[in-house]
Amino acid sequence: MPELPSPLNVTVIGSGVIGLSTAHELASHGHKVRVISDQEPLQTVSAISAAIWFPYHSENSPAADVLLARTLARFKALSLIPETGVDLRFGMDIERRADADRSWAKHVADSEVVDAALLPEGALSATSGTVPVITMPTYLSWLQDQCQRHGVEFEQRTVNAIGDLRAGADAVVLAGGMRSAELLGDDHSVYPIRGQVIRLANSAGLRNWLSDDDHPGGVCYIIPRRDDIIVGGTDAAHDTNLEVDAQTASEMLARAISLAPQLAGCEVLEHKVGLRPARETIRLERVSGQDMTVIAAYGHGGGGVTLSWGTAQRVVELLDAPAQATHQ
Ligand SMILES: Cc1cc2nc3c(=O)[nH]c(=O)nc-3n(C[C@H](O)[C@H](O)[C@H](O)COP(=O)(O)OP(=O)(O)OC[C@H]3O[C@@H](n4cnc5c(N)ncnc54)[C@H](O)[C@@H]3O)c2cc1C
Repeated sequence: MPELPSPLNVTVIGSGVIGLSTAHELASHGHKVRVISDQEPLQTVSAISAAIWFPYHSENSPAADVLLARTLARFKALSLIPETGVDLRFGMDIERRADADRSWAKHVADSEVVDAALLPEGALSATSGTVPVITMPTYLSWLQDQCQRHGVEFEQRTVNAIGDLRAGADAVVLAGGMRSAELLGDDHSVYPIRGQVIRLANSAGLRNWLSDDDHPGGVCYIIPRRDDIIVGGTDAAHDTNLEVDAQTASEMLARAISLAPQLAGCEVLEHKVGLRPARETIRLERVSGQDMTVIAAYGHGGGGVTLSWGTAQRVVELLDAPAQATHQ
């Protein structure tokens, strides 16, 4: 592979949270960036996201820990700027299994075991903490605007083959979520995990988040944002049905109301379905066998927002590495 010039002309495929965060980081490191996507940011799976900083159906490893920590630090900084749509919210993760995964808590300064008197029926324990909650429509619009201020250009079209981008780019970053692998053809390990959610008006003035993945009736989470509340959910692997299921919705709402009775009076604003781009490990690497520099950045499962800034920073490191080597 020939040595890359610096700054680079980089094309990012995808304008979900991974593509936009990556475009932002690349442009703020001096690269000239173009984003190509066939869905606008507010049409992506990212826009449906709840979105709480919390790893869920995503890689659990030391490498992913670095991405989690970096993303948490950036969201904390962004929570100081009201226009971003990022807020820090206290809440708790209910645990119904002795081997509950508390790995998220080591990143969260005020995390602690919840007093047993506050647990719902059937829960063994719970862990509480203050984490970022992101109102995605506000956040994605803000992020796209920031990208444009850094000179990022946006094009709306479908990319049929990565090779078609060779003429205008030194490097391509593939941040196409569920559809990334089809552009590479060498990866059959991405699969959908269907998520259905309800958006309620926050007339109850709820502030604290709650998650209960092992609720006997099915996954349950309640994420209060600025003016609304996202109630979930489902985690059906390999289910590609994008239609809202009314029965599922009423069961989800009933579970949520059993944990937070004040939700009963909140107006239902809309129902949404999205497919989480799941993979055992996030694909975040230079792709070999391509006749140009291609960085893969996909497979974030139910944690794309939670891992977004760490992923973006890693892409910059992967691209800048050869240029840095020449300075040594
Ligand atoms: C119900 C639900 C709740 C969730 N809650 C959370 C949460 O609380 N916290 C969290 O961290 N995560 C959550 N997630 C997961 C999160 O939404 C995803 O991990 C994340 O959105 C993935 O982002 P992405 O940028 O990789 O993909 P996407 O948002 O799907 O964006 C993909 C982009 O690639 C473009 N694209 C793809 N292929 C092509 C092509 N060939 N040509 C042109 N453009 C192309 C699309 O147009 C789009 O712009 C949730 C997901 C769901 C469904």
